[in-house]
Amino acid sequence: MLAEIKGLNEECGVFAIWGHEKAAEMTYYGLHALQHRGQEGAGIVTTDGENMNAHKGVGLINDVFSEGEFSRLNGHAAVGHVRYATQGGGGYENVQPLVFRSQRNSMALAHNGNLVNAHALKNQLEAQGSILQTTSDTEVIAHLVKRSGNMPMEEAISSALGMIKGAYAFSLLTDDQLFIGLDPRGLRPLSIGRLGDAYVAASETCAFDLIGATYEREVHPGELIVIDDDGFRTKQFTQPLQRTMCSMEYVYFSRPDSDLNELNVHASRKTMGKQLATESPIEADVVTGVPDSSISAAIGFSEEMGIPYELGLIKNRYVGRTFIQPSQELREQGVKMKLSAVRGIVEGKRVVMVDDSIVRGTTSRRIVRLLKEAGATEVHVRIASPPIQNPCYYGIDTSTKSELIASNYSIEEMRELIGADTLAFLTTDGLKQSLVNERDTEAHGICQACFTGNYPTEIYPETIIPAYKD
Ligand code: AMP
Ligand code: SF4
Repeated sequence: MLAEIKGLNEECGVFAIWGHEKAAEMTYYGLHALQHRGQEGAGIVTTDGENMNAHKGVGLINDVFSEGEFSRLNGHAAVGHVRYATQGGGGYENVQPLVFRSQRNSMALAHNGNLVNAHALKNQLEAQGSILQTTSDTEVIAHLVKRSGNMPMEEAISSALGMIKGAYAFSLLTDDQLFIGLDPRGLRPLSIGRLGDAYVAASETCAFDLIGATYEREVHPGELIVIDDDGFRTKQFTQPLQRTMCSMEYVYFSRPDSDLNELNVHASRKTMGKQLATESPIEADVVTGVPDSSISAAIGFSEEMGIPYELGLIKNRYVGRTFIQPSQELREQGVKMKLSAVRGIVEGKRVVMVDDSIVRGTTSRRIVRLLKEAGATEVHVRIASPPIQNPCYYGIDTSTKSELIASNYSIEEMRELIGADTLAFLTTDGLKQSLVNERDTEAHGICQACFTGNYPTEIYPETIIPAYKD
């Protein structure tokens, strides 16, 4: 049960292209730019209008694909996916895009996010005779689409999307059409671009830059885009609601060179760092950031405080992400292998260590220790997001409530636990203000549920495993 629900928590990257003679290759490169969104599996499915060809596997894109694969993955359209699964659900059967072959029309589906009513829908589908082969939400979407019998695909998808609730950015490829859709609140990022005459879609705009595509626009909340030989059409499958884009995408998850809702991620992180300095200033000699995701915020903090930014911490690039290690003991070891403190920079100094977030507290505790062992006289921890006190049900693995340090301890207790001289977090208002776009006068609608507990959708407590309850 635990493995099943955990298997649903994915932070993934999707890519799609229509109308390009090298669709598979472009998807392969696009997925490379999205590799930070998932390292546990990768896949590409193409169509030449008559046949679908798929190649996928467990591991990094480079482990899964070799050059020879492209000659087999022929066709003018493709969908691709990189997968991040934290526990369970990481097997081959869950690697996307999932392909469903049928006489009428085959389809390949790639999806990022999490359906909050997946459990109820699975029960319903199984009661009606569907045989589910994976633990992933993606299959639920596919079964709902397939159930619509002979309805035109566009209507079948709209009807399926009407039944699912939660966060999803998806692309669905059939032999003659590509569909791109986003949940009614726009919780997950998804953009559209052009590459010559071809259309592309990607979870993050950094994928467009890598293949030389130009950004066109964001997919709107509740929008279904259809691309085929007749061109590009769009419809709302549901009334759009106020967009509540995941704020953790800005804080941690997305790449700094991506723009989300036309706001650059690096620039937004820098503003978060500046705002943090305004809210919780401190006297110190150097500011350092935890590579890579905290560097932008640390630069902002340093600029606002007028304290020099230094490379006090160095990352060992060839070690996987901390979260992938399964146990606390291994996670602690992972942090140690990943980072080193630079003695020549921090020795005898009062150091401000800026990190983007605290989840379980493992990283901060280890880094404070590393900096002190390297001779820092004081370590002041500044976190460029508010305390994470609630789990996420929308596809970002922020762990269970019992594991979230900020859900169980006060700020003073956390300071003591991580061994810092002082500890401060960005406020929720400060985060919101940091996400104001130059073009707009007020902040984009953002989700801050893991900080505030105010979830923008229903949550369906019956689908939540005990650890997710208080
Ligand atoms: P922890 O050590 O458990 O407190 O995790 C905090 C660290 O993990 C921070 O340095 C973040 O950069 C990173 N992080 C934050 N959120 C996530 C997430 N959802 N998945 C993986 N890593 C994360
Ligand atoms: Fe993002 Fe947090 Fe909202 Fe989840 S709960 S979508 S991590 S802001």
